[in-house]
Amino acid sequence: MVYRHMERVERPAAFLEGGAAMSKQARVCPLCGREYPEPPALSRADNTTDICPACGMMEALASIPRQREGPAERTRRAVYATGNWWARENFDATHN
Ligand SMILES: [Zn+2]
Repeated sequence: MVYRHMERVERPAAFLEGGAAMSKQARVCPLCGREYPEPPALSRADNTTDICPACGMMEALASIPRQREGPAERTRRAVYATGNWWARENFDATHN
């Protein structure tokens, strides 16, 4: 009876310990300084640095070649920059 009782107490304790160890593995992104629990993304800068998924996304977006940007893209950006919803809709309607 006593043995069973101890066994029951031990299990959740071990579980909590594992949980604490897990939380210690929380990574801090070197780019934005944020602690993140998600699986890290690999920085494209050196292919060894672990960064948070958000920064990984930013690097991915930043790495997209800009030479593909043609007149239409430039116009789209200009139109969107105005914040004019009618202009946006008109542009999308004529370019998509
Ligand atoms: Zn980050």
